[in-house]
Amino acid sequence: MPSSVRSLSHPPPLDGIALLRHALTVAFPGRIAVVSSFGTESAVLLALVAEIAPATPVLFLETGQHFPETLAYRQQLAARLGLSDVRDITPDPAVLAQDDPAGQLWHFDPDACCARRKVAPLAAALAPFDAWVNGRKRFQAATRASLPLLEMASGKVKLNPLAAWDAARIAAEFAARALPAHPLAARGYRSIGCAPCTRATAPGEDARAGRWSGQIKTECGIHLPSRAPWPPMSPS
Ligand code: SF4
Repeated sequence: MPSSVRSLSHPPPLDGIALLRHALTVAFPGRIAVVSSFGTESAVLLALVAEIAPATPVLFLETGQHFPETLAYRQQLAARLGLSDVRDITPDPAVLAQDDPAGQLWHFDPDACCARRKVAPLAAALAPFDAWVNGRKRFQAATRASLPLLEMASGKVKLNPLAAWDAARIAAEFAARALPAHPLAARGYRSIGCAPCTRATAPGEDARAGRWSGQIKTECGIHLPSRAPWPPMSPS
């Protein structure tokens, strides 16, 4: 185990915020990025990062399929929180021209679409970093119920500092910090990804029930074990 990982796990961190602070300022300064969807709950993690180390690179997967409200919120939050290095990570235009020229691949093969618009661009963007942070939480879905605070993924340390937070704590943090809500939150969108693959949820549904609704797909692929995209991506 790398020494930087040992330093994170021994002695055990007090909580997710202590873990985040240690990772940003002691274990991985200059070698860590945050990945954010700028969705309905993203402001909390981003506010914590801005408070601890506002120059931390924040990677936003600009798939070309987002709601305009999300793109506006991305600008609003970055300015409001003082995040100085938010990066739009875009798909390879040559790959899209070859494999998804009409922007409709999501309809026929969402896994292939996510591979081209999210998974491959993120893997390239994370290449210079040794660690990354994301905002997943256990309460969001049954598939995330055992999410650890810290894991290894594709040779990089991956931190889930808000894993143990519940909806009430997220709401309290929004209120305490007077964070702006995602413009679609008031219309029933509790988990927001690309527009073609996201719907509002009804009371009682999982927060992520509106993602790829009606399909067996539950994750875009950036949080799944590495695998070769299928069908193979066109060379760029
Ligand atoms: S969420 Fe939908 S539109 Fe976005 S990359 Fe995945 S399949 Fe494509």
